[in-house]
Amino acid sequence: MTADIIDGKAFAARVRGQVGEHVARLKEEHGLTPGLAVVLVGEDPASQVYVRSKGKMTTEVGMKSVEHKLDAATPEADLLALIEQLNRDKTIHGILVQLPLPKHLNEDLVINAIDPAKDVDGFHISNVGLLGTGQKSMVPCTPLGCLMMLRDYHGSLLGMDAVVIGRSNIVGKPMAQLLLGDSCTVTIAHSRTRDLADVVRRADIVVAAVGRAEMVPGDWIKAGATVIDVGINRIELPDGKTRLVGDVDFASCAAVAGAITPVPGGVGPMTIACLLANTLTACCRANGLAEPEGLTA
Ligand code: NAD
Repeated sequence: MTADIIDGKAFAARVRGQVGEHVARLKEEHGLTPGLAVVLVGEDPASQVYVRSKGKMTTEVGMKSVEHKLDAATPEADLLALIEQLNRDKTIHGILVQLPLPKHLNEDLVINAIDPAKDVDGFHISNVGLLGTGQKSMVPCTPLGCLMMLRDYHGSLLGMDAVVIGRSNIVGKPMAQLLLGDSCTVTIAHSRTRDLADVVRRADIVVAAVGRAEMVPGDWIKAGATVIDVGINRIELPDGKTRLVGDVDFASCAAVAGAITPVPGGVGPMTIACLLANTLTACCRANGLAEPEGLTA
């Protein structure tokens, strides 16, 4: 194996440490405690795990953590009323509605009801527009985490060829905007891309956000390229046990790449660290204070 392993777990711990120090200073110098409210509708087991771990880490960095768990059958009007209440709450600086929502709820309507300044997931249409036009916004946590790792590893990304595989609103599209913002030449590939292997072979940076276990083989990767694997896929092993794998075939890609993120322990931990960073940023902005350095796009 030749590639450097980009240790997202260690990096995320460092980011959380920086957030924690900044939070302590906010408390001491301004009497402020950043607050994050997480809203969970229904009993999706994966969502419950995410929400629990978000709450725990929020408290660990010294922030206020509030969880609202609503019944799966909650009417849309009740959810919107809760969001309105959180929008008005001065002790809450970040609001996150855990997705996916039960089918009877309109996700776009719900997300766009969040005050854009408190939209720490960066999914509100205003934040999407601000990011797309290169203006200050709340940036989606997963792509922000990928960008931080890339900047940390390379310093400048200027002029690099980047290929993002996947065009979702949550990962692929904002990732491409961020890479463009850092002056990469960006290609977005997707399920209808012709000759994906050829497209990926051009890339100095590959970000795989597809949701298909180990679909990118090593012979698609240019020698020395940096591979960021966003995918989280659970596969069943011959002995009946399960294992988490990414969207890239780690062993064959690591043999040719210059650097690669593992799954687990790569992008995943950075996502929650960036959620905390975004909550801190939102709190600073809401109070007219300087933003934390190195923790925004
Ligand atoms: P999505 O299903 O919304 O989007 C997948 C994208 O992949 C689509 O744009 C589609 O066009 C593209 N695609 C599908 N099949 C393809 C193919 N054969 N070739 C090329 N492109 C193809 O998924 P998402 O929400 O963007 O998530 C992608 C993956 O990232 C999932 O595995 C998800 O679990 C993971 N994820 C991880 C984190 C994290 O914190 N690490 C956060 C969000 C998502």
